[in-house]
Amino acid sequence: MAKIYKCKNCGELYTFWDGVGFLYPSVFSEVRTAAVQGEYGKEIQALITEKPDIVVDASNKIYFCTECGYWNVEKSLDCYLPKGVIYKVEHSIPWSVISSADGSSKENHGHISVIPPWVLKKGYEIIKMYPHICSQCGKKMRRYVNPPVDKMEKEENILKLKCKKCGGDITCTKDEIFID
Ligand SMILES: [Zn+2]
Ligand SMILES: [Zn+2]
Repeated sequence: MAKIYKCKNCGELYTFWDGVGFLYPSVFSEVRTAAVQGEYGKEIQALITEKPDIVVDASNKIYFCTECGYWNVEKSLDCYLPKGVIYKVEHSIPWSVISSADGSSKENHGHISVIPPWVLKKGYEIIKMYPHICSQCGKKMRRYVNPPVDKMEKEENILKLKCKKCGGDITCTKDEIFID
């Protein structure tokens, strides 16, 4: 699903994909390989080597800089561990094969079990938040939460997402795109 945002000033349209598309299984697999190889830093590499049950969230999210207002759509890369001893979910989407917590079904007929973000929300706990750094000023970015959970988030969200062309305010239109 995607939301369409529009600049109030110049009319520029922005499409924000909400995390997961039909290519998610291959993205998920690539992210996992990159994490194991140390592309996301030594800390995540060590974590995933030590605990192979760790799931790296490969879904896209919007991050914004509270210092300079720069924002970008980036992979979450937050790391999760299963909460229970065994966590198994059957799902109607064929690629969402869930591994058990002991890792025994991690390899499913030679494929990595793909765990989508909505499963992470339920059966997993976050153990490491990936630091997203602003490419413009070097400060740490925050996740843009939509819809915002509390009043403070709401005010920050509205304040911080600016049009990349003209600097005007971007607001959410009612339009949504559905795929899958
Ligand atoms: Zn604009
Ligand atoms: Zn910045």
